[in-house]
Amino acid sequence: MVATLTLHDALNHHFGFDTFRPLQQEIVEATLSGSDVLALLPTGGGKSLCYQLPAVLSDGLTLVVSPLIALMKDQVDALTANGIPATFLNSSLDASEARRRIAGLDRGEYRILYAAPERIVLPGFLAGLDRWNLERIAIDEAHCVSEWGHDFRPEYRQIASLRSRYPDVPVIALTATATDRVRSDIERFLEMRSPHRFVGTFNRANLRYHVFDKSDAMKQLLAWCEQRKTESGIVYAQSRRATEELAERLSAAGIAALPYHAGLTAGERARNQELFIRDEVRVICATIAFGMGIDKPNVRYVVHYDMPKSLEGYYQETGRAGRDGLDSECMMLFSGGDAAKHRHFIRQIPNEREREQAGLLLTQMLDFAAAIACRRKHLLEYFGERGSPERCANCDNCISPPQSTDATEAARKLLSCVYRIRTQGGFATGVHHVADVLVGKRTEKVTSWNHDRLSTFGIGSDYDRRDWIAIASDLIRLGWIEQDIERKTLTLTQDGVTALRESHPFFFAKRARVKTKKAREAARIMDDADDSLFEELRGLRKSIADESGVPPYVVFSDATLRELCLHKPSTLAAFRAISGVGDVKLERYGVAFVEAIKTFNGRLSA
Ligand code: ADP
Ligand code: ZN
Repeated sequence: MVATLTLHDALNHHFGFDTFRPLQQEIVEATLSGSDVLALLPTGGGKSLCYQLPAVLSDGLTLVVSPLIALMKDQVDALTANGIPATFLNSSLDASEARRRIAGLDRGEYRILYAAPERIVLPGFLAGLDRWNLERIAIDEAHCVSEWGHDFRPEYRQIASLRSRYPDVPVIALTATATDRVRSDIERFLEMRSPHRFVGTFNRANLRYHVFDKSDAMKQLLAWCEQRKTESGIVYAQSRRATEELAERLSAAGIAALPYHAGLTAGERARNQELFIRDEVRVICATIAFGMGIDKPNVRYVVHYDMPKSLEGYYQETGRAGRDGLDSECMMLFSGGDAAKHRHFIRQIPNEREREQAGLLLTQMLDFAAAIACRRKHLLEYFGERGSPERCANCDNCISPPQSTDATEAARKLLSCVYRIRTQGGFATGVHHVADVLVGKRTEKVTSWNHDRLSTFGIGSDYDRRDWIAIASDLIRLGWIEQDIERKTLTLTQDGVTALRESHPFFFAKRARVKTKKAREAARIMDDADDSLFEELRGLRKSIADESGVPPYVVFSDATLRELCLHKPSTLAAFRAISGVGDVKLERYGVAFVEAIKTFNGRLSA
């Protein structure tokens, strides 16, 4: 076993980090002692380091099995940038390049080898492994072995054959999926031997959760992105068409955005993903097809333009923000209309059990959206984590606790307005029009349809238009009002009629609005000078990255750039003390960055 001091030294020398993230050290020690290890850490928890650090401390080769061929190159580039000899073998290489790498492996030049599960059962590959002094097997995304995970890959089951071939080589399996079923599948199918289990908290403390009432979704999205113009974000929407529309509108507003969905060709998808990873476009508007295999650490926000189908999906998708540990935001636009849409699709599921299951998932999602207590606690309890604090101080409900007030009268006004429009006006209308009638706004539609003569015209001046839309949204969620999927028109349900007649109690909690400017200022950690230095360093990072054909984060993470802005090191020694600067990166990039900072400081004092 390696002494603690050396572990820290190695962490600092190779990766430039001062401290381990939670459980990293325990995991590294366990695998170095030769035990099998199962590590369940959330996205961004720093799983890669758990096998990369042991690899540099060992003499032999660490084989990393990973399903994500697209990521192997970036991982290897990142290791190489830290001076750690690594390579990968997969189908993207031509025969001569593969031969060259195999020759290098034969000479013992590498510490880490990435390979896809298909490859490790090929006879030629196994013969190679026999020669390469295999020291440890790391299995990334280990949940792929389980049908209960979200990404089952049958090839993963074949990994077990390595076990019989190399019975003495320790295995370390890693995943961010933590259900008990997946966990026991991993141990069973990978034939792990009394593994040490490490389960991290699934709390993503650096993520701030917001849910806003969807009133004018496109405008809300534009306002949101405009306030975060220089930052990377993912916008999830339900349909392919929506993703394309959103990307176009954002681009037209000067925010470079591209769509990503399963209807694009593989080439287009790869290209759009690449441009995003290389910081050429800021925003990706995607269906849920986008994500698995996205390792971009500096995604600063994830927007749910439409509500996801389940809380599990929400957690996975929002989890793609802030992998580098810096403050990041998750924003969902919620409307009762989304709930209506989901219900409509669920009703069409033929299998009863599946229909019930989908209904349950939706209810849980809706409970989260409508919650007025801490969202983080809500999420963690959903995943079975108990005992987190009542208030996290980093979600909308904790930052400005919504006041829930008795709004039974308001609900009745709205219900009866919907009813009057339908019965006296002759046809149903959408929610915006209902709100106009309630607040007494004489729009063209209102006057031409004579809705200013309805008894409910203007009876709702105690709330503003957006409140009425939010109230309608709640009533749709409760099933008192139904919204037509196609035409978006509102009608009362039987429950709604009863609620109106019997004055069923209704409580309304005003949620915060996309008042982005204020929220931004509250969250600001740097002053403007720092901001412009950050932009400069970002530019320098980009040009270095482009020159060597790697993504910018391979050079330095955003976290490292932020620290540079904070401390503005003007000597190489001070530069080395920044988290993320190891000895190799100091040598490669130190001079360029220190020069840039000195020039910047000079300009400031001039
Ligand atoms: P995961 O695979 O668990 O989602 P990664 O291994 O991709 O997470 O790590 C996420 C980010 O955290 C990376 O940018 C990585 O460099 C950084 N990181 C990992 N360990 C540490 C640490 N001990 N200190 C600072 N940053 C770390
Ligand atoms: Zn909270």
